[in-house]
Amino acid sequence: MDRPMDLHYTDAQEAFRAEARSWLDAHAPAPRSLASLDTAAGFEAHRAWEAELAADRWSVVSWPEEFGGRGVGILEWLVFEEEYWRAQAPLRVSQNGVFLLAPTMFEFGTDAQKQRFLPPMASAAEIWCQGWSEPDAGSDLAGIRSRAQRSDDEGGWVLSGQKTWASRGAFAEWCFGLFRTDPEAERHRGLTYFLIDMATPGVTVRPIPQIDGESGFAELFFEDVFVPDDLVLGEVGKGWNVAMATAGSERGLSLRSPARYSRAAERLVDLYADCLERDPDRARRSADSVAQAWMDAEAYRLNTLWTATRVLDGGSVGPEASANKIHWSQTDLSIHRAALDLLGPEAEFHGDGVDAPWLDGFLFALAGPIYAGTNEIQRNVVAERMLGLPRG
Ligand SMILES: Cc1cc2nc3c(=O)[nH]c(=O)nc-3n(C[C@H](O)[C@H](O)[C@H](O)COP(=O)(O)OP(=O)(O)OC[C@H]3O[C@@H](n4cnc5c(N)ncnc54)[C@H](O)[C@@H]3O)c2cc1C
Repeated sequence: MDRPMDLHYTDAQEAFRAEARSWLDAHAPAPRSLASLDTAAGFEAHRAWEAELAADRWSVVSWPEEFGGRGVGILEWLVFEEEYWRAQAPLRVSQNGVFLLAPTMFEFGTDAQKQRFLPPMASAAEIWCQGWSEPDAGSDLAGIRSRAQRSDDEGGWVLSGQKTWASRGAFAEWCFGLFRTDPEAERHRGLTYFLIDMATPGVTVRPIPQIDGESGFAELFFEDVFVPDDLVLGEVGKGWNVAMATAGSERGLSLRSPARYSRAAERLVDLYADCLERDPDRARRSADSVAQAWMDAEAYRLNTLWTATRVLDGGSVGPEASANKIHWSQTDLSIHRAALDLLGPEAEFHGDGVDAPWLDGFLFALAGPIYAGTNEIQRNVVAERMLGLPRG
């Protein structure tokens, strides 16, 4: 039986919070003072900030100390995240590595891979992008065509093909990518997960301009790119399982902590209070959507505490990660839609507490139902694996 939820943090956790708060108060750059991380200058400014976090072991608090962490648990990580978002500290340029690849590397990596890759990931000396989607394979990830051919002479693999929509791909040093190593095998079985140095000859990066004019996204082209055997993560041919572990982190506990939305919902309530004074009719028209958005953020916080408790009790996140992803992406949209209703054209100028004006936050929120696997696909997963409905 599940143990009852205790919604109070312990004294030790509160002491940890106080330490994090005082460090962030002393060190975090002023909100929105760094250029966007989807620009070359902003990328480097965010990297420098993360190096500062890492120097005092705040960049990856839940990792073991030998890799740059503090060895604390999930609940302390959630506390740290609450303080990080309270301080309105910069978005994490290293998120693909720290929140997606690292949990997978802890599970599937060799000791040599962990020693080699985790410390520079923690310090943002090496930043990662995710090379999964292809022009004809997004939702249908098992349909990827990019190939890796065995080269016994050289002791490795030769990669060819094209990836697209790689966030941070324009500037990242490393890429974790999925390639087909056995074209004869059943679709999910012939895949392998590679760690690729973007400076390897044969890799071409073509930035993709975004709706906001920046180009952090990229298409990646691979022409006879050699990757040695020791850069395969997990087993050859078992890349699908490894990739699903990464997807579980992306949709489940690690990519989007509740503090991101709780903080934005608090700022939304502040906006509402301001609006009530300036333009009471406009405020009242938005009252229900503001209240709903705040409740959605709170529900996500409570649900995350429940999930974390399950994991601490030895359970796993499971297909609930898909329900989670639908909820956080929709909550983000509801918060931003309500803010735009309250602000009207001024949404372009007022900050949203994430590190951008509300309008920019809204444009990014529009992508939430798409990235990390579209919400339609997540609904299929919920239907089949949580509700036990027959496959469509
Ligand atoms: C902001 C952002 C960041 C991203 N970052 C990365 C990244 O770093 N690395 C990376 O590899 N990819 C990344 N992506 C790509 C993302 O993973 C894909 O866009 C996504 O998986 C959908 O694939 P697609 O674009 O090919 O759309 P498609 O798969 O072509 O889908 C088109 C539409 O059809 C629907 N659909 C498809 N199949 C089904 C089905 N079986 N049942 C019901 N509906 C279905 C989809 O839900 C969608 O609405 C990113 C995307 C965005 C928007």
